Amino acid sequence: MAFIPYGRQYVDDDDVAAVVKVLRGDWLTQGPNVADFEEAFAQKVGARFAVSFSNGTAALHGAYYAAGVGKGDQVITSPMTFVATANAARFLGAHVRFVDVDPSTLCMDPDRLQEMVSPRTKVIAPVSYAGYPVPLDKITAVARSVGAIVVEDACHALGASREGGMVGAQADMTVFSFHPVKHITTAEGGMVTTNNEELARRLRLFRSHGVERDPSRMSRNDGPWYYEMVDLGYNYRLTDIQCALGLSQLAKLDRFVQARRRIARRYAELLKGVPPVGLPPHHPGHSYHLYPIRVPAERRRDVFEALRREGVGVQVHYLPVHMHPYYKDLYGIPDDDLPNALNYYRETISLPMFPSLEDHEQDRVVELLSSYLG
Ligand SMILES: *Cc1c(COP(=O)(O)O)cnc(C)c1O
Repeated sequence: MAFIPYGRQYVDDDDVAAVVKVLRGDWLTQGPNVADFEEAFAQKVGARFAVSFSNGTAALHGAYYAAGVGKGDQVITSPMTFVATANAARFLGAHVRFVDVDPSTLCMDPDRLQEMVSPRTKVIAPVSYAGYPVPLDKITAVARSVGAIVVEDACHALGASREGGMVGAQADMTVFSFHPVKHITTAEGGMVTTNNEELARRLRLFRSHGVERDPSRMSRNDGPWYYEMVDLGYNYRLTDIQCALGLSQLAKLDRFVQARRRIARRYAELLKGVPPVGLPPHHPGHSYHLYPIRVPAERRRDVFEALRREGVGVQVHYLPVHMHPYYKDLYGIPDDDLPNALNYYRETISLPMFPSLEDHEQDRVVELLSSYLG
């Protein structure tokens, strides 16, 4: 029986043709596809600006830089995320604090956030875990009360929406990833969206060596060749080849999200017959990057191993970030300081979830679960 991964890209002939066309043209990087992809992306999520990056981690790094994060500042995030959300704050010398998750969303609990903020809080970085659009109202109010900026890590949540709009249009900045398991892919790739022109300018500066080319912002101007470097930046650019793929993938986003939602509804229906399984939190605007279920903690490992043995590529998302050795050495936060994240980690298994997952494959996953848990 064919191996079923937990996630995989969907790339078709249009995508291939779009990439080949760039390869035969004049610009492999920094050509017209970059601005076209950014513009189409901004329009899709309803934001004024979109700035592309070479991957989602670079995009997070750029967003924290644009927010003004520096040495000794505090960045507050959720422990239930990929390590990059915290790491990118460490790149800038910030202290990372973790707020436990609300079990009804698996995203940052805004009531606990209130107790953790201080005048040193520069960024609050909630994570829209699995594609559930993190409720932003309270988080934004807390951020405003201390002058912090909200950077939503929406690497799981492209295509998701909440009251008042799409994910990508509401936080001060929203970060996306185009890794192959995410909603759309450019192989590696990332994006930051914002409605704030100054933040967009700082994002672009950071992406390309801190080089300023706008004559009105330069300290002098020696001639038409002249540019100057005003801050330490990186080469975090996305290529024209990748942006052409991104454009072609973006045109399929609605179909991808519909397919993911259909698969989620079908799992919910099929899993009704498997009583010890807990379903992921529901939200009408959920875009289902993942489909993580909960099983009794004492059965999790056996069930996981059995599914893997049967060729189902289940995964666990995630070991809470504060429990990784690097963060344990740095902060020494006891595992059970964040009990909701810890309990969730002990019980969760991510089932296969990607647009081309077929009904018979899904049936098989549920049958296997049911036979090992029933
Ligand atoms: C994928 C992901 C990232 C990082 O993205 P890359 O493109 O792999 O660098 C960051 N945060 C979360 C929650 C992710 O899932």
